Amino acid sequence: MKESYPKYLRAFNSFKDITPNILKEYDIRGILVDLDDTLVTHNYPIPNEDVLLWLKQMKQEGIPVCIISNNQKKRMMSFIKNLDVGYFYNSFKPRTHVVESALGVMNINRENAVLIGDQLFTDIRAANRANIKSFLVKPVGTKSTLFIKIKRYIERKIPI
Ligand SMILES: [Mg+2]
Repeated sequence: MKESYPKYLRAFNSFKDITPNILKEYDIRGILVDLDDTLVTHNYPIPNEDVLLWLKQMKQEGIPVCIISNNQKKRMMSFIKNLDVGYFYNSFKPRTHVVESALGVMNINRENAVLIGDQLFTDIRAANRANIKSFLVKPVGTKSTLFIKIKRYIERKIPI
């Protein structure tokens, strides 16, 4: 049987827009969140101020956060070094074993969980398969990456 198109519950411009109040609205008590292009641009090594502030907010509200990434151990360890969060690398989303593990680690029921990510066919599909809620965010990297691409292109065109 053909798998249906990934379906998210709600879309946001940024993870920053996902506030404790919004989580309450959906009875969400734990967060699974993608890393690359969701929290920071791809392979950006450390959490920036926005990420730190958001995590602090969640901690104050007693909402546990698990970062689940398909990226490798080295990348993850650099990012989470000073963070008090759960983490899973090499997650192989859209496979769901890591989603199940994260629910266990956070000790929450699946109806109270959300997966936040920027990719329909990995993040949102994993959430669909695991039957948990999902929020789609715009990839953080898109703008700057495109900007850099255009910049490089223009640079190549300018004769020295
Ligand atoms: Mg991503």
